[in-house]
Amino acid sequence: NNRSESACRLHVLDDILQRRKRVIGVITHGHLDHIGAVAELLKRKIPVYLSEWSRRFLERYARKIPKGAEFTIVSENESIRYGDFQVSFISLQHSIPGALGILISLKKKNILHLGDFKFNGMEESIGEFERTLKRIRQKVGRIDCLVLDVLNVEMEGYTPPEFQVIDSLKKIIKKARGRVIISFFSSNLRRMEEILKIGRSQKKTVGISGYGMRSSYNLIERYLEGNFEIPPQDGQVILIGGSQGEENSGLAKMIWGEHRLLSISSRDTVVFSSRCIPGNEERMRVSLKELHKRGVKIILHQGEKEKLNLPFDEIKEEFVHVSGHGQRDDILKAIEILKPEMIIPFHASPEKYSIFENLIGNGRKIKRLSYLKTFKI
Ligand SMILES: [Zn+2]
Repeated sequence: NNRSESACRLHVLDDILQRRKRVIGVITHGHLDHIGAVAELLKRKIPVYLSEWSRRFLERYARKIPKGAEFTIVSENESIRYGDFQVSFISLQHSIPGALGILISLKKKNILHLGDFKFNGMEESIGEFERTLKRIRQKVGRIDCLVLDVLNVEMEGYTPPEFQVIDSLKKIIKKARGRVIISFFSSNLRRMEEILKIGRSQKKTVGISGYGMRSSYNLIERYLEGNFEIPPQDGQVILIGGSQGEENSGLAKMIWGEHRLLSISSRDTVVFSSRCIPGNEERMRVSLKELHKRGVKIILHQGEKEKLNLPFDEIKEEFVHVSGHGQRDDILKAIEILKPEMIIPFHASPEKYSIFENLIGNGRKIKRLSYLKTFKI
């Protein structure tokens, strides 16, 4: 986000390159916060390993990928050797296809990086991922270090399954008299696919608007079952980016009357199929207040009204989003099965690391990562 911070991080990368003869980059999945700096690795001729889906996302979304850059495509259950290291890949459930966990083994030490993950909240998917983790633990005997996504550690239970969101959207689309404008992260291909199916079953046209959304459609087009025509921009249901109130997004342009093709009327329903990411509250409030002022029906995810301090009765809440990250039970279950000697929590703020440390107690060694600090496993 911040130029001087990015420069500092690149300096760390160059520092590592000076001290180590060989460095490789292994990408867990195609979300921008995980692939945004891959161009810097490629520029420095660092070999990059990633899944086929992550490569597709990288080529669509990450800027400045050097021409002719080569990647090594890896898939789940595959292993590569690099010097003394063995790196094995595990399939993970997240909000994007092709997410991989990484098991790094060196001289009888095993480090497991679970990337961004969740058990996906259904008996079947929980059981399946439990078996995967048990297999890993049995195979290597001992996990010396677990790198663990603790973003949602403060939320109780398992992260609910995506189908609950789809069920809510189905009802909202069925009930709506005007258009339903749904905004979510375009990388959530599953949500896009399911909404296209809802449109087909309810005989409503689904429009897909904006570069990000249309790029995502291009990614899933050939995997869609049955006949889908290339979606128009407009429709009875419109999928559009801007769920975080981003100023240049399609949704913001619609709200402020600056969109070339689309405008909003008071007959429309706007669904924010998302959760406000900390830091975006103010710009979301501005957009939502404008929509409210114009009499547009607004549906937010449960709990968002209070979070955004929007005490208007007309703004409704429904179950319209699930996170791609595990909640407390996902986190605890992974630890229970893997029994790691040490845990490195990641993907969260210092406050959440504290919640995690208090939750786990003194029984386990927890290390927080920080720049330029190294420690032995
Ligand atoms: Zn992610």
